[in-house]
Amino acid sequence: MPQGKPPGVRCAQLDDNNLCRLFGDPRRPDVCKRFNYDPELCGTSRNQALVNLAAWEAAT
Ligand code: SF4
Repeated sequence: MPQGKPPGVRCAQLDDNNLCRLFGDPRRPDVCKRFNYDPELCGTSRNQALVNLAAWEAAT
């Protein structure tokens, strides 16, 4: 995404299984490489992660 990925917008690199097409590829953005799974943010499901992300974005 040449202009960056706005909050709330699905990344163009996600495939139909919600997996990153750039995983292991040197073109994968550094911010993505540095992010590790965080149970506080990610929870135990995709839906829970989206709810947590929305709450964090609203609070900051
Ligand atoms: S890890 Fe980064 S590049 Fe890959 S799908 Fe997620 S936001 Fe997009």
